[in-house]
Amino acid sequence: MWKYLTLNALWFWMLFLVHFYGNRKSQAFFLLSMLAAAAVLAFKSSVDPFAWFSYLLYSLVIFWGAGQFKQWVFARSILLDEELKAYSKKYDLEKLALSEKENANVATDKRAVQIATLYEKAKEMSQCLDHSEALVVFGEALNRDFKFQSIKLVFFDEEKTSQAPSEVYELTQEVLGKVLDREALLKDKKSLKARLFPQDQKIFERLFQEEDFFYVSQEQGVSYAVYPFVIDKKIFAGLILYGLDRPEDPLLSILVESFKSDMQRVKLYDRVETLAITDGLTHMYVRRHLVERLDEEVNRCQKFGFKLSFLMIDVDHFKRFNDGYGHLVGDVVLKQVAGIIKKNTRELDLVGRYGGEEFGVLLVETDEQAAFLVAERIRRSIAEREFKAYDENLRVTVSIGCSTYSRTLAETNLIVEAADSALYQAKRQGRDRVCMSGV
Ligand code: GH3
Ligand code: MG
Ligand code: MG
Repeated sequence: MWKYLTLNALWFWMLFLVHFYGNRKSQAFFLLSMLAAAAVLAFKSSVDPFAWFSYLLYSLVIFWGAGQFKQWVFARSILLDEELKAYSKKYDLEKLALSEKENANVATDKRAVQIATLYEKAKEMSQCLDHSEALVVFGEALNRDFKFQSIKLVFFDEEKTSQAPSEVYELTQEVLGKVLDREALLKDKKSLKARLFPQDQKIFERLFQEEDFFYVSQEQGVSYAVYPFVIDKKIFAGLILYGLDRPEDPLLSILVESFKSDMQRVKLYDRVETLAITDGLTHMYVRRHLVERLDEEVNRCQKFGFKLSFLMIDVDHFKRFNDGYGHLVGDVVLKQVAGIIKKNTRELDLVGRYGGEEFGVLLVETDEQAAFLVAERIRRSIAEREFKAYDENLRVTVSIGCSTYSRTLAETNLIVEAADSALYQAKRQGRDRVCMSGV
């Protein structure tokens, strides 16, 4: 009895397994062999036909039931699969949203740091009294957040009407990457000075035409952004950023605007300083500045054994001249005399208005003989010149006293006094002449 039951259970279990796991081919094969075996069994052995038939029926029912069960299991697994997929999709979306949030937080943090640094740099720039210092601070700020090749800052000659660049500074990202000691870089300002190339000149032409910011993007070659710096509606400088990676970044415009206003401030500061040391009528240095510079040069002579001469120039009988032609005519003539003195000295010499119609000239690296030649040249040029003022053709002469730095004349006041007494001597000897001190 148990034997039959076990055999039946095994048989049904096999049927179930074949239907559940097998493919169509193996199922058909199994069904056919089952029917064949059943038929053989039916013919060969003396089986009760009713039992045989019911056994076959059970087998088919089990076979069919296994099919139904399989379908149900499949349907269920598909359903579960879809549910699982939906869940995992939801999970992925949430994960993505979270990571985006995190990224946004990181970006916000980064931006906050950038803005804080920008603020610090802007504050630092606003304390600079010198444009090369401001340029270095600007370069450091740019170097933190942007990629670029170089920064060129060009100042234009305000006296001239054309776009003549007077000074050119350049800072490359390579240099900024290496710079650790700003002080050293600023001490050697010459290293910031740069040359202009023909393509730079073309950029200025466009800058003066447009009078506004522009960006040139180049497929081949370096792209660049150009900004004009303006005071009193006049472009006094231009900033070129070569090879900039993100010209549209708002941080950049804030940085450039801040640099721009600082350059304007430095420029105005320079102007005030120049005004403070320049005489309004003759555009020469005022006496205080002349003496200060003379002091510096005397110190250099003491330290390094340089040479130095000083000329004191006074217009002859100018009181009489004023009385005869009036103060306004006198002013025009004084201005022209100043022009002649400047024209007859070198760029590195220092010319100042010492008093009313008195001028002082500091001749650097000039010994007594050379100073005498310069003084004579000035005297002669003035004496030979016919001055024109308010339809008057006039002539004036000057007397010049000259002193030279030496062991006995090694202090500013001694040098000035010596030149002054030489001038007095020239006056006494009949004016329109040059007298050397100690002669
Ligand atoms: P000298 O030096 O030859 O001895 O005679 P001087 O007449 O030039 O001598 P003094 O120093 O006494 O006079 C200087 C005159 O220069 C006085 C003043 O009328 C004139 N003067 C000084 N400053 C100015 C100025 O800014 N403009 C004009 N027009 N005249 C001035
Ligand atoms: Mg005089
Ligand atoms: Mg005088």
